[in-house]
Amino acid sequence: MSFLANRILKIAWNERKLLNSQNLLSGVPCTHKTYSLKIKRMSSNLVIYNTLSRKKEIFEPINPPMVGLYVCGPTVYSDVHLGNCRTFVSFDLIYRYLLYSGYKVRYVRNITDAGHLEGDRDEGDDKFAKKAKLEQLEPMEIVQKYTIGFHDVLRLFNTLPPSIEPTATGHISEQIEMVKQIIANGYAYEVNGTVYFDVEKYSKNNDYTILTNRQLEDMLNNTRELGGQDEKKGRLDFALWIKAKPEHIMRWPSPWGVGFPGWHIECSAMSNKYLGHQFDIHGGGMDLAATHHTNEIAQSQACNHTNPAKYWMHTNMLTVNGARMSKSAGNGFLPRELFTGDHPLLTRGYSPMSVRFFMLQAHYRSTLDFSNEALEASDKGYRRLMNAIALLPKLKASASSEVDFEEIKQRFIAAMNDDFNSPVLIAELFEVVRIINSVYDNKTKIDAKGLAQLNTLVNDFVFNILGLKDDQTENNGDLEKLMDFIIKLRQEAKASKDYATSDLIRNSLQEMGFQLKDSKEGTVWSKS
Ligand SMILES: [Zn+2]
Repeated sequence: MSFLANRILKIAWNERKLLNSQNLLSGVPCTHKTYSLKIKRMSSNLVIYNTLSRKKEIFEPINPPMVGLYVCGPTVYSDVHLGNCRTFVSFDLIYRYLLYSGYKVRYVRNITDAGHLEGDRDEGDDKFAKKAKLEQLEPMEIVQKYTIGFHDVLRLFNTLPPSIEPTATGHISEQIEMVKQIIANGYAYEVNGTVYFDVEKYSKNNDYTILTNRQLEDMLNNTRELGGQDEKKGRLDFALWIKAKPEHIMRWPSPWGVGFPGWHIECSAMSNKYLGHQFDIHGGGMDLAATHHTNEIAQSQACNHTNPAKYWMHTNMLTVNGARMSKSAGNGFLPRELFTGDHPLLTRGYSPMSVRFFMLQAHYRSTLDFSNEALEASDKGYRRLMNAIALLPKLKASASSEVDFEEIKQRFIAAMNDDFNSPVLIAELFEVVRIINSVYDNKTKIDAKGLAQLNTLVNDFVFNILGLKDDQTENNGDLEKLMDFIIKLRQEAKASKDYATSDLIRNSLQEMGFQLKDSKEGTVWSKS
């Protein structure tokens, strides 16, 4: 019996650890919630701002209910910065709302683990090899370290994992095939083992600046002159494949000699592989539009004769106290610094959920200004929302209802259908906060049906769509249930005079830092 009790205790404890790690690190419970969402409605009223047309358009997927979504992922040679986090939180909101709307979404977000050059230029060292030399590590060690760090941060922000997360190094042959096809179609040329995309030739039959609507002349004027030793034909030409110097560590054989792929070709090859020649949404930070996405479009047009995506979506920049966030200005934040408060511009740390709420309070196309005051105000709003939600189980149903929750739901949907307008949705949610508090104070009546609708609304829009959770109570709730179960086991052992087992449970818990206190009213526990 004592052996059995010990086993149960161990299993229960491991389960607890698992729950804890999932809650804190993987966001699995929330993933489960989202996947358990029934298909509610296929929204034909969703409008998306398309960077291509520079206007809002009705969202009409190419092959409904399927939706292909590609988002440019991180370059994993250093810690993910907050601007990137904002982009991934924004696309997490978009992904979640598309799922809620009934679409079957294949969400592809790549990991750039090779070939991305400093300053987006065509010469210089590979960033991974460079960093590896600095840290005395293998390039793939750098990749592994920062990929894990990236995933950890995104889990803290409770983002859902993408459907596929392909790496550049895992898709070298696909990139080589694409470069070969672009050469065969006459839009690229090879010089000394490096292959360049011929922008001038491409521009004769295609609109190279279709995404940003810039003048080609302006782009040329803003581009450095061709140096005497430059092998490119035109100033705007960019590398599809780059010859590796002898000391270069990351290298692959190709028809043009040993080298490594250019950054832009990676996204074109991987989106093409997993989503087809043309898919629905391509996203990323707005800093990627002018070069990276412009070149992605050119590559796909040159290879497959089509723009790879129907809708191009871009998230805006972060600012700090009104100034652009940058490492060199000393006003950059790492996510970790924001969580711990270990930063000269912060008076304290803010929880990942509070920061997520703060990010969602701005529309993804607006700049988001970080300041201690703004974070503080947002944190108060987040707590007000979570405290109201914590009252839900305590609300009592009346015979009649004074609130039309269907109408409120339609307002929520209208906000999200308007280009994923989360700040408007959050403003509407505070009306629900007011209602919850008023019902709790017996000032407003809602019936049983209204109560059920209210719970569904909160579950769908706060937890599943905005991807929020209560960082103060969620873990405690699990632990509470588990400890109740263990205390019950011990009581049963005592009742059957199995004192060896009851002592084992108490002593084992004590080793783990849990104290049990018996009294006439029952057993209570505390954690040291
Ligand atoms: Zn990309």
